[in-house]
Amino acid sequence: GPCQLHGGLTGSHPCLCSQIYCYGELLHQVQMAKLYQDDKHFVDMPLSTAPDIVLQSFSELSEAHNHSIPTQQLQAFVAEHFQDVGQELQSWTPVDWKDSPQFLQKISDAKLRAWAGQLHELWKKLGKKGLLLGDGRSAPL
Ligand SMILES: [Zn+2]
Repeated sequence: GPCQLHGGLTGSHPCLCSQIYCYGELLHQVQMAKLYQDDKHFVDMPLSTAPDIVLQSFSELSEAHNHSIPTQQLQAFVAEHFQDVGQELQSWTPVDWKDSPQFLQKISDAKLRAWAGQLHELWKKLGKKGLLLGDGRSAPL
């Protein structure tokens, strides 16, 4: 069936994606290099290349550097084969989203206005989360 991580069909179980996101040298080197402050960041980045190609080019790159890829090269590798999480989230933001919508200006009570603003923010977050879960690619929360 279709893989939950890269969306493509896979004949083997588990999919090669688990060798990218769950264990293996790629994950290990990304974490050792501390490319991201949060370990979860990398796990949330969707693939932009098929998993077998990613693993193949990674093992070539790794061997060329004696299994210790310099941070810059590793960064370039990730940029080439993965999509950034931030960019994806941004594209999910509803097009009609306004950070300070008109209706908030019309509420005269300051407390009520703050509360409505929080609700508005929350709605934006929930909207994102829902859409991410909807495409089946969201990592466990
Ligand atoms: Zn997969």
